[in-house]
Amino acid sequence: MGQLMQGKRGLVMGVANDHSIGWGIAQKLSAEGATLAFTYQGEAFGRRVKPLAEKLGAPFLLPCDVEDSASIDAVFEALGNEWGGIDFLVHAIGFSDKNELKGLYADTSRENFIRTMVISCYSFTECARKAAPLMTGGGAMITLTYAGSVRIMPNYNVMGVAKAGLEASVRYLASDYGPKNIRVNAISAGPIRTLAGAGIADSRQMLSYQQRNSPLRRTVTIDEVGGSALYLLSDLSSGVTGEIHYVDSGYHIVSMPVLEELRR
Ligand code: NAD
Repeated sequence: MGQLMQGKRGLVMGVANDHSIGWGIAQKLSAEGATLAFTYQGEAFGRRVKPLAEKLGAPFLLPCDVEDSASIDAVFEALGNEWGGIDFLVHAIGFSDKNELKGLYADTSRENFIRTMVISCYSFTECARKAAPLMTGGGAMITLTYAGSVRIMPNYNVMGVAKAGLEASVRYLASDYGPKNIRVNAISAGPIRTLAGAGIADSRQMLSYQQRNSPLRRTVTIDEVGGSALYLLSDLSSGVTGEIHYVDSGYHIVSMPVLEELRR
């Protein structure tokens, strides 16, 4: 165990199970000495997250549905009352109706467009606004995004539009909170098999395409995303804010893959 997060306390939102990216991040932070609080969405997830939170000795496990502002308020109020302040926030939350994560983007319904935006984009801004006053000694926040925000990924559709908004939010929040020494960044992770990932049609094909065509010729793990999150939430990255940091085996730099048989 290292010391990078010794004495730091923070909130991890978006762990559903031990495959979640949020769980990969939580384990890395805890191994470096961080004290963690977790939120969960609804009782069914709560039952799965409880033993995970206990494993890392988390003193708080709080319900939170980000569609409900009062539920967000209650989480940050509880943290303020118990801890007085926090040092970091992890937002690893995303949702869209899986019936619209296939077919044409053009067919996205108004109702699901709004719901996807609220949960996958706006909730980060709302949580950041609640977290910032608790970061009296400065702090760091991260969210999770995907390259479908800037380039077309089959079936990612409205989630790509929400992630584009989320990435723009990161830049605006970094500007808002920079003077308070609060840094705001995002990790753009490559495809990983998780509950949310499985909702995207043909996600297996996306994974194997990245495996074959990224510079590292493989996908990434939640442990690797956790390592980059540790960097962005610790003092190692004290000069970094407003950044979209890719953890995707380098896939985002590729236009046409360099085929082995054509190498000279
Ligand atoms: P996951 O299913 O393990 O986590 C998604 C989390 O979002 C769950 O814990 C779920 O409870 C939470 N959530 C959804 N709606 C919510 C609501 N209304 N209120 C509160 N919480 C809610 O999947 P994951 O892949 O670990 O997803 C975490 C983040 O990483 C998401 O933002 C996702 O878009 C992003 N991401 C995932 C991948 C991937 O391939 N898995 C790639 C890049 C980015």
